[in-house]
Amino acid sequence: MADITSLLGSIQNIPTPFYFYDLELLGKSLDEVKKHGLTKGYKVHYAMKANANPRILEVIRQYHLGADAVSANEVKAALAAGFPKEEIVFAGVGKSDEEIIVGLSNDIFCFNCESAQEVEVINELAGKMGKKAKIALRINPNVDAKTHHYITTGMKENKFGLPPKEIDQVIDKLPQLANIQLTGIHFHIGSQVTSLESYTQLAQRANDFNVYFRSKGIELQHVNVGGGLGIDYVEPKTNPVPDFKSYFEVFEKQMKLAPGQELHFELGRAIVGQCGSLISKVLYNKEGETIKFLIIDAGMTELIRPALYQAEHFIENITSQSQAFETYDVVGPICESSDAFRRGIELKQSKRGDLLAIRSAGAYGEVMMSRYNLRDNAKTYFDVDLG
Ligand SMILES: *Cc1c(COP(=O)(O)O)cnc(C)c1O
Repeated sequence: MADITSLLGSIQNIPTPFYFYDLELLGKSLDEVKKHGLTKGYKVHYAMKANANPRILEVIRQYHLGADAVSANEVKAALAAGFPKEEIVFAGVGKSDEEIIVGLSNDIFCFNCESAQEVEVINELAGKMGKKAKIALRINPNVDAKTHHYITTGMKENKFGLPPKEIDQVIDKLPQLANIQLTGIHFHIGSQVTSLESYTQLAQRANDFNVYFRSKGIELQHVNVGGGLGIDYVEPKTNPVPDFKSYFEVFEKQMKLAPGQELHFELGRAIVGQCGSLISKVLYNKEGETIKFLIIDAGMTELIRPALYQAEHFIENITSQSQAFETYDVVGPICESSDAFRRGIELKQSKRGDLLAIRSAGAYGEVMMSRYNLRDNAKTYFDVDLG
């Protein structure tokens, strides 16, 4: 495997912090998606928001995944990366008129709609353009994803998806919406979901809704069960590839599709999460009264997940020659107390100049980079270029 630890000779002169991507590992994840999902005839749309780096998109497209966009710019980035327009879905709770027009003018596969009002707006805009918009209704299934509440999306108190009472409202209105073609139903219960039980519940709810639409005389071309499959942040080196087999098997076993009906997925984190590491240099050792701090040159500006979701990433010192271990708080340089990666973790004894690898940073890392404190954006490097 082309891990950063096998490339130490080639990275000595690269300015830190930087993102390192192991494209070989990305390929291994995609091999599993193909083996356990695509070969069953399932359509998998890659959730672009997890990582939209063009080199990453290029690899993903080679596996013939579609794209799941949540903004017009993501639709454009998907097209630029070679994703065919008929394999792009466009989701999002607040699509602006301008963004909807981008989707319409590019004749994308479908809009995943999140309210009755949005459906009417799309109908109107499509009418003006002389188009028929394909839509799927995003339904809030009220399934608990058992993940952090900031990344739970499928409970009735979340802002996402049509509340059940609006479903009938849309169905009743459909005959008047001349520029809308309802092609599917869509669900997404949240992110970093590790309980397969939640997916069993989702599949059962999806079946119920599928039957309901049929009872109303609507033939759905596809059912989209979203994404959210989690990765192992605790032991990324033991489990670099998520258990796609079990994940897809849940749906294979549970879903009751009508003849000819397609099953779609939208995976982001599970595909790209483990292939990225944030590499950072130790700037200072600071001894507080009770705590030993390692102040490193990466911060929440490069990887905001710890500050935003209390996420914990596995960290290792990849250059220390020491055999001794110490307990450290690993913190960034930004002027915010939440700018801390981990508290109280064991690392090889670390000193100024050592390199730390912050693992599992391939998803929701680089894409959320900011220039807060007017810091420069970290650059990205790939195993295939460093070898
Ligand atoms: C974010 C998102 C996804 C992907 O979530 P992951 O946890 O990265 O798999 C899929 N579908 C929708 C609608 C999303 O918003």
